[in-house]
Amino acid sequence: MSQNSKGVIMNERTRNLIELDKKYLWHPFTQMADWLATEPVIIESAEGFFLIDTEGRRYIDGVSSLWCNLHGHRVKKIDNAIKAQLQNIAHSTLLGLGQTKSVELAEKLIRIAPGSLTKVFYSDSGATAVEIALKMAFQYCQNLGQKTRKKFIALRASYHGDTLGSVSVGGIETFHSIFRPLLFEAFFVPAPHPYRFDGKSCDCARYTLQKIENILKSGTEEVAAVVLEPLIQGAGGMIVHPQGFLKALRDLTRKHNVILIADEVATGFGRTGRMFACQHEQVEPDIMCLAKGITGGYLPLAATLTTQQIFDAFLGPVAEDKTFYHGHTYTGNALGCAAAAASLELLEENKTIESLPPKIELIKNYLAKITELPFVGDVRQCGMMNGIEIVQDKSTKQSFPRHKTIGVRLCQAMRKEGVMMRPLSDVIVLMPPIAIDLPLLEKLLTIVYDSIKNELPRILKGN
Ligand SMILES: *Cc1c(COP(=O)(O)O)cnc(C)c1O
Repeated sequence: MSQNSKGVIMNERTRNLIELDKKYLWHPFTQMADWLATEPVIIESAEGFFLIDTEGRRYIDGVSSLWCNLHGHRVKKIDNAIKAQLQNIAHSTLLGLGQTKSVELAEKLIRIAPGSLTKVFYSDSGATAVEIALKMAFQYCQNLGQKTRKKFIALRASYHGDTLGSVSVGGIETFHSIFRPLLFEAFFVPAPHPYRFDGKSCDCARYTLQKIENILKSGTEEVAAVVLEPLIQGAGGMIVHPQGFLKALRDLTRKHNVILIADEVATGFGRTGRMFACQHEQVEPDIMCLAKGITGGYLPLAATLTTQQIFDAFLGPVAEDKTFYHGHTYTGNALGCAAAAASLELLEENKTIESLPPKIELIKNYLAKITELPFVGDVRQCGMMNGIEIVQDKSTKQSFPRHKTIGVRLCQAMRKEGVMMRPLSDVIVLMPPIAIDLPLLEKLLTIVYDSIKNELPRILKGN
């Protein structure tokens, strides 16, 4: 019998599964040497807001299964919607063919989306939703005869997915720099957050806007679109933008007749406290990318929403070559659309988004306490999206050396207390399913607080 990290006896089956996992799998965003050297947890099932592993241990799903789960797991309504859909059909193509569920969902999405958006183009991941947005914006300009508009403006530290187009507008050096030779060129401007200015205070929104305007008014008309994660840059470390930045950017892009692409893959479906982040500032983007939470965290589905104006520029006789030649085999998958429609109905029935303010307030109160703890640097919140930065030196906000993997080890300590977390280097991400109840949210926050207070010094001492 072997022992796992908690000292509990591992059953034969778990050991076997771990062995097979290590033999056959290559995990995403994972240094496999570390993976092979440690004892991974293998999830088997779930119940509400808890994940359950093969040893029967339960963990609060503290990061919504990588930011996508909204209502918890095994939710009756979504389960039933998928089962009912299976009675009809699991998948048929949208290439030259219609499908009931994709129609019903599109109508629902347009009803809740910012007013400018009237058309839905489906795909299956956040990366493809962004890829489509970029190609759409580019070809829109080409179709209008604006042949010089071939480039994009993006923010440093932005994350838009891992396909090459999405990586081209991505600004996280650790993830993206190696691929630079494969990418198309983009204009990068600083993220509007003092965090990116070595902690010095600055009028960073104005600075970023100025940089963008300088590019737009150069007279060369090179830019097809500006792409950004509205309000908060998730994977870049939960970087929150100053209020008003998004609105000002919308005004600026309108003024210069440039498309604004809002990547709401992470922020969409209530995560920031409203249905979509753009709605906090009454912004209507020209293109909006949706994925992660769209199915409530059940199935891979994504959507790129756009305006009538962009759609119309693709109309014409086939010989004019205005057609948007893009699609994926599983585009608009019926099971995914059924799950998404049920998830949207649930948001409405349960008034999930309307009931967020007390949860957001509770998190805010705990974050205020957490800020006071040793080794805590910046603490950032945007509704239900939160980042707690762990630093070596509280006064200078100097980070720990990367090889110390403090974030990972702290999250492992939280795991032992029954919370499943995944950090962004040394930023502890706190992003529970938005439907989580207040008592469980408080339990999660208590474990996070206690771990930073008690376990972190222990981890550091062991160094
Ligand atoms: C996660 C994420 C993506 C990529 O989504 P995938 O489904 O993982 O491809 C794109 N943009 C943002 C803002 C994200 O957070």
